[in-house]
Amino acid sequence: MNTLQWTNHWLQRSPSFYRRVDPTPLAAPYFAHCNAQAAQLLGLNAEQISNDEALRCFNGDALPSGMQPIATVYAGHQFGIFTSQLGDGRAITLGETQGVNRQTYEIQLKGAGLTPYSRTLDGRYPLGAAIREYLAGEALTALGIPCTRALCLLGSGTEIRREPGETAAILVRMARSHIRFGHFEYFHHRDDIDDLRELFVFVIERHFPELLNEAAEKWPLRLLETVIERTARLIADWQSVGFVHGVMNTDNMALSGETLDLGPFGFMEAYDPGFSPNPSDDQHRYQYDQQPDIGRWNCLALAQSFTSLLSSPTIPAGLLRLYRQTYQQHYLQAMRAKLGLQTQHPGDIDLVNSLLSALARCGTDYAGFFRDLACFEPGRGLRYSASLQSWLDSYQDRLSLEKSPPGERRERMSRVNPCYVLRGHFLDQAVQSAGQGDFTELDRLLALLQNPYEEQPGMDFYSLPQQKDSVSRRLG
Ligand code: AMP
Ligand code: MG
Repeated sequence: MNTLQWTNHWLQRSPSFYRRVDPTPLAAPYFAHCNAQAAQLLGLNAEQISNDEALRCFNGDALPSGMQPIATVYAGHQFGIFTSQLGDGRAITLGETQGVNRQTYEIQLKGAGLTPYSRTLDGRYPLGAAIREYLAGEALTALGIPCTRALCLLGSGTEIRREPGETAAILVRMARSHIRFGHFEYFHHRDDIDDLRELFVFVIERHFPELLNEAAEKWPLRLLETVIERTARLIADWQSVGFVHGVMNTDNMALSGETLDLGPFGFMEAYDPGFSPNPSDDQHRYQYDQQPDIGRWNCLALAQSFTSLLSSPTIPAGLLRLYRQTYQQHYLQAMRAKLGLQTQHPGDIDLVNSLLSALARCGTDYAGFFRDLACFEPGRGLRYSASLQSWLDSYQDRLSLEKSPPGERRERMSRVNPCYVLRGHFLDQAVQSAGQGDFTELDRLLALLQNPYEEQPGMDFYSLPQQKDSVSRRLG
């Protein structure tokens, strides 16, 4: 870790933004997993992030000299209700380091003990939950969806107080930025305009430097537009792969447009617009088909916290139109690609919607269906139910408007429709065996998820939904 150049730009900004805090080491720490792919982004090899020095650094036993870790303060709308102070209760920012291609990454330890924002909680991350975040970060990243990801995962002998039998982990995660919508909401709701403005300038300088070329009075609106576009695109990506975040509170929304704080998420198996993987979301506020609207709602909350920076106190109507337009455009583009369509026709969105209705009626496995659809050949007998067959007839008509030969379409579709997604039952298995000290299932899942489009010999099982046999969802 000493080979990396560390900085921490927060330290040069308002002391209201953060508190200095050192990690509290775990007992008997060990590497449960190291992510060679993520290490490469930092210009490091697997050995460099898994040696003793790295272990001492990530466990907080011996930090590189001069490093001054911090926890930042933020607020957030949780399930629609505003909480005026949250903050990094179990995440500690070590600093930033520059990776390859001059990309800067902020590195955080999640689960490294108490911070001034831990409230009554313990600052710890149960191993099972850390594995969930780790795997989801890799799964989404490999699907080309912006997401924070983990550099490595530390297990330990420290027990989680509130969950007997569970041990504590530290997830070393990296992001372009961990700044959340809630960071702005915090200062806005305190009417602390000076700090709000300073945070705003900090964010522009560090993360949106392209805006510096424009006149300063345009910055607030331009920043909002950029964040709104990124958010709309992110959620369109989630929808297209059947991913549900589960806790789309504004404190879990990153300004960078990266997926953040992966907890009770889920990848849909049987297509279901009401799919909601978070058992504590009893109102289903964050279910699959609500995500696009919630994304917009969250952007509105962010825009509201910008009102003192904007030249007019009302939020320009164009901003929310921008969200919808960007979302619709990006979603349709992603769905066309999944259907193997290269041309654009006005009826395409209807074709998508009628497919989704049919999938919902039949309870068809979402990822599996698109993967199989690549093999669809007009005129061949199909095993799907009547409602899907009538959709396949429309699809066949639509394909006749395309110019490319079927083989090319098949090839293209198998590069955008994954064979392996993070299915809940495999994730549960990986968590369960890791709890017993066996990390082979985690290794296996990671290898598949980091290469999701490539069918691996002998791994068919991992492309199947729970308790369904392969035949029932194959097109034949
Ligand atoms: P989350 O629901 O994970 O997005 O967390 C909401 C808030 O609770 C954030 O301020 C977290 O930092 C904090 N939090 C969650 N779990 C813990 C924990 N075990 N210890 C301290 N703070 C926590
Ligand atoms: Mg959170």
